[in-house]
Amino acid sequence: MEERGFQKIVRGGLVVLPGHDEPQQADIGICGGRIAAVGTGLEAAGAEIIDAGGCLVMPGGIDVHVHFNEPNMGHWEGFPTGSAALAAGGFTAYADMPLNGLPATVDTAALALKAEAAEGRSAVDYAFWGGLVPGKLQELEPMAEAGVIGFKAFVSKPGGEGEGRFVEADDWTLYEGMRRIASFGGVLALHAENDSMTTALGDAMRREGRTGALDFAASRPPIAELEAVNRALFYAGRTGCRLHFVHISHPDSVELIHSAKKSGMDVTVETCPHYLMLTEEDMARLGAVAKCAPPLRGAESRDRLWEQLAAGKIDLVASDHSPSPFELKEAPGLSFFDGWGGISGAQSTMELLLHEGVGKRGLPAGLVARVLSQAPAARFGFAAKGGIVPGLDADLALVDMEHRYTLEKGHLQYLHPHSPYEGMEFGCRVAGTLLRGELAYSLESGVLPGGGARIRAGLGSYAGKA
Ligand code: ZN
Repeated sequence: MEERGFQKIVRGGLVVLPGHDEPQQADIGICGGRIAAVGTGLEAAGAEIIDAGGCLVMPGGIDVHVHFNEPNMGHWEGFPTGSAALAAGGFTAYADMPLNGLPATVDTAALALKAEAAEGRSAVDYAFWGGLVPGKLQELEPMAEAGVIGFKAFVSKPGGEGEGRFVEADDWTLYEGMRRIASFGGVLALHAENDSMTTALGDAMRREGRTGALDFAASRPPIAELEAVNRALFYAGRTGCRLHFVHISHPDSVELIHSAKKSGMDVTVETCPHYLMLTEEDMARLGAVAKCAPPLRGAESRDRLWEQLAAGKIDLVASDHSPSPFELKEAPGLSFFDGWGGISGAQSTMELLLHEGVGKRGLPAGLVARVLSQAPAARFGFAAKGGIVPGLDADLALVDMEHRYTLEKGHLQYLHPHSPYEGMEFGCRVAGTLLRGELAYSLESGVLPGGGARIRAGLGSYAGKA
């Protein structure tokens, strides 16, 4: 038994600790918002006791891929609602993409507007991505100095409208951008789909009047992803730029990235819950609520992605939460091709990986903690987060592994409550989320808004910087 100055003790949970596949029975002592001790039988006079009996205690998730759309597109989503969904899903931090707010976050002025929009309005901690677009190369280093965690680029058309919208990088912008990002040790995150392939195939489909969900999937085939991955790896090899592939949809792409990593390249890969949970047949059945790019693939690809996740070939899982008003996805006269592509899923990521991955496919809980917390923290410089370790922020998700429930619209915290997982029965549920030791969400009280603070990666914390 220990006597220490804990203000709170999370007692009696099955705690998922770094380096362990299986959870351990342990208490967590918290002081000043940080984890002070992990052990059995922790005691402290006057400490608040948080009963975690029957719960799996996970490190708070870090979702490095969300689109909360502010400033100026807050009618699509917003920092309060998007972050509330994350809190309710066991996440304690996120990184907001440089699109689809207006203006896109491609210079320090736009970054300041975004920071202003988020200030005091996020339920959990947050960081920002900058964007790499043509004509703004000189903005990369200033944005890094202002604390972005990395830079996002597209090689296919990103979609979205309006002045100041995000645009794709041509090959020169991509190459020269990577050269510059490498010079200060930053990371480039890439949406990898070959634009000429997807445009030609999409145009041909439209000409033939084939505009259904399976036609959309066929217009963005695996080769388009594989080619863009290959090109970016080539540029990374020439420039030394650290590279992260977002939302990889196909196992062949994962294999190519894994080979590059084995050859010594500094490259990581992310997939999304929807590629692990859904197929193109689901997209045809569910409609535009399950539309995304790259598109959903077949069942064999989905199962191979799970095997690659289990084998450690996929570094991290992020939601790519990319919502819009539902009428922009599905409306009379709007074809599947023309509906907004983006899945609302941020609230369900941890429950999906625990329910399907741990519950059904036998993955260890430790692996889920690695891909949702440890790896994103390590890759993108969330220095105070990433695991249940003394000294780090007391960011915890308490997950009731016996709580069966069916996901309903009313559970969703999104501004526009739609999800491809609506109606799905989950075998577990997040019961509470602690952000730096304070309750950000509980099943009883709901989300406690506004507790999040900005995290700046800063040039100094880039791993590549001497
Ligand atoms: Zn995205």
